[in-house]
Amino acid sequence: MAKQEDDFKKVIAHAKEYGYVFQSSEIYDGLSAVYDYAQNGVELKNNIREYWWKAMVQLHENIVGLDAAIFMHPTTWKASGHIDAFNDPLIDNKDSKKRYRADVLVEDHVARIEAKIDKEVEKAAKRFGETFDKEQFLATNARVIGYMEQAGAILKRLGKSLEKEDLADVKLLIEELEIACPVSGSRNWTDVKQFNLMFGTKLGATADTAMDLYLRPETAQGIFVNFLNVQKTGRMKIPFGIAQVGKAFRNEIVARQFIFRMREFEQMEMQFFIRPGTQKEWYEQWKETRMKWHLSMGMGPENYRFHDHEKLAHYADAAADIEFRFPFGFKELEGIHSRTDFDLGNHEKYSGKKLQYFDPDTNEHYVPYVVETSIGLDRMFLAVFSNSLQEEELDNGTSRTVLKIPPVLAPTKAAVLPLVKKDGLPEVAMKIYDELKWDYNIAYDEKDAVGRRYRRQDAAGTPLCITVDHQTLEDDTVTLRYRDSMEQIRIPVATIREKVSLEVDMKYWLKKMA
Ligand code: ATP
Repeated sequence: MAKQEDDFKKVIAHAKEYGYVFQSSEIYDGLSAVYDYAQNGVELKNNIREYWWKAMVQLHENIVGLDAAIFMHPTTWKASGHIDAFNDPLIDNKDSKKRYRADVLVEDHVARIEAKIDKEVEKAAKRFGETFDKEQFLATNARVIGYMEQAGAILKRLGKSLEKEDLADVKLLIEELEIACPVSGSRNWTDVKQFNLMFGTKLGATADTAMDLYLRPETAQGIFVNFLNVQKTGRMKIPFGIAQVGKAFRNEIVARQFIFRMREFEQMEMQFFIRPGTQKEWYEQWKETRMKWHLSMGMGPENYRFHDHEKLAHYADAAADIEFRFPFGFKELEGIHSRTDFDLGNHEKYSGKKLQYFDPDTNEHYVPYVVETSIGLDRMFLAVFSNSLQEEELDNGTSRTVLKIPPVLAPTKAAVLPLVKKDGLPEVAMKIYDELKWDYNIAYDEKDAVGRRYRRQDAAGTPLCITVDHQTLEDDTVTLRYRDSMEQIRIPVATIREKVSLEVDMKYWLKKMA
């Protein structure tokens, strides 16, 4: 646990030091769970957004985009169920006066049990060496099986109690598991209460005419209310999807963990409209497609897993998370939800307008079913950033800090470095920079010894360095250095553009999804 916390602190410190993420309003001591993206952060965020958009919209002939407003008619949130049901169960510790999400306290307890399983696996792997079979060990080791059963039973009970809104049982569960407040260490808990997560605001100038509004807690509803407009004007045939990226706001009770849980964040959502009865197939298909997207970035299949929901949200008939191994353990990164006709059906009811589709293949009118994929852009940012930050021991006994961001997402694609600041090398380097800048974000750096410049680019996450030296003046070649392997090759100036393109262009990475 201490190592995890330490690693996570390093991630946060590195994000600040290298211009990725700053605390919002830092000069006023910050605003809790609100963050700003700095010069490198904004580039990484833009790249993740674009990588998602291309995969979802550009590469699917039946998915189109949308950019709906953050403000929506307040009845939207009545229809969507958010006014009545968008609650988190909260609990206070009477001694520390700290507030927690009751379900998160229980889930953290389960994560500690799961960590014990990981420890057993690690120990056994050491003991058995080469002959170790993890699958077999997990299936047969009595202690591990015991832990797994324990974790499963706790989650099942939590899911059931939340579904039945049995908050007394959630408290009982916390007491039975002897969960203590991480701050005071005491088990002196209040009852569990529901807390609505939407931020309210007002539209209008005078108090008596002002209208109560909410900042949208998800982008999905902007898609639902525009469903028929898009279907008709785009002449879309079911099945089809509408994708959107935009801000969402939630008054999170426990907003810890940096940009993992924020009060203002960005979602990348896609609602896929289908014929009723086909939701199971589409749900499975989107689970697979989305996992392929994640894997295409090369961050390691061992860092992802599916988690099927026991407790379903008020709108869903099936739901799964794609979880990622964050520095604090496996946690939700993306949700895939089979939302039935809940939203469109309710918008019909509340608006009095028909939201039906005429299916020319079956000659019938119906309210489509929906399968949604929903991923937090900021959470994806954290997944990429935390997974990329590595301390490496080098052969020569030194070490380096390197940010191995997948090159396709890296804020700066290459740095052009003249070996020395004289003999005409800066001019040649500048020329290369001027050529490349039309296609890519490129850095130019001539300060300090070249070794130090390499380290700086490693730590900032730049995948390629192009070094201009005296030989360049003679034969028009440069050194191309790869961040991850530190390999250096000599290439003609005329081939630089193509080399960079092969490393960083989205099309080569997206093709891995096929
Ligand atoms: P959690 O259980 O972590 O609160 P959720 O199940 O409420 O998440 P969804 O409503 O399914 O999340 O939202 C879809 C995605 O939006 C999540 O998978 C996550 O990546 C992102 N997300 C949700 N809440 C936040 C938040 N407060 N800060 C950053 N990202 C968020």
